[in-house]
Amino acid sequence: MIEDIILTEQEKLYWEKIFNTEFIFEKGCYSTCNSHCCKWDTPDLPLTIIPKGGTLFYLPKEYAYISKYGKITEIPPYKMKTKLFDKELFIYYKHCNDDSNCNIKFSRSLYCKLYPFIPVFDIEGNLLDLKFISVYDVTYNIIGQKSPCYVKDLKAKYIDLWSKEDSNIHLLKNPYTLFYLMVGNLIHDNYVETLKSNNKLINLQGKEFWKKWEKLYLAGRLINKNKLEKGIEKLYNDFSIKYNFSLED
Ligand code: SF4
Ligand code: SF4
Repeated sequence: MIEDIILTEQEKLYWEKIFNTEFIFEKGCYSTCNSHCCKWDTPDLPLTIIPKGGTLFYLPKEYAYISKYGKITEIPPYKMKTKLFDKELFIYYKHCNDDSNCNIKFSRSLYCKLYPFIPVFDIEGNLLDLKFISVYDVTYNIIGQKSPCYVKDLKAKYIDLWSKEDSNIHLLKNPYTLFYLMVGNLIHDNYVETLKSNNKLINLQGKEFWKKWEKLYLAGRLINKNKLEKGIEKLYNDFSIKYNFSLED
């Protein structure tokens, strides 16, 4: 339950900083692509079951902050949870097709502030790489489909910016956020490997590809769950040792 998460004063200040920080910001970029990443409304992405629009993800403490101090949407987000080893890991998610007016109506999530990249850190918080954060962009990249998003081509710029001492990326090295970002990276790599190994799917093209992709994706068959759980369990143990980290805190 959201109400069960009580933020400490330090956590409140931390999420306030995240809330007031832009990580990837290219002024007016939405005018070049008709807000592609908020709508995903293009004939090149012919999905029939998944609705058009983006999906917002909120980390549990991020949503606890936003629901108390920020602006929330009229309809609350859903909870996506998975039981791992002896822990429950969950995030909130919500469908969005708000056409980039979101800041006026509700608080944007960290996920949206990072789009189109997820920073890849090691456990020490060293920035190793940037990967695409959206499953659609990751998939576009693998099947060689073009995207109208020019910000995706600015990886070198953001690696350079975020490698500087005074970069605001240090905010993401907080163990709590770092853990979830590293879980995100495990999911990314697991998805890429599973998708690439599905020869029947990967050899399809255009509409036929997306039709089959959508069914497999919704059935959870584009993730190797066993491998992912083992990876997250190892990561969790490493974080517990290094940062005295616990999902129960
Ligand atoms: S980040 Fe990319 S897809 Fe999203 S609005 Fe900007 S240019 Fe368009
Ligand atoms: S919250 Fe805003 S930036 Fe994120 S998908 Fe919705 S409209 Fe786009």
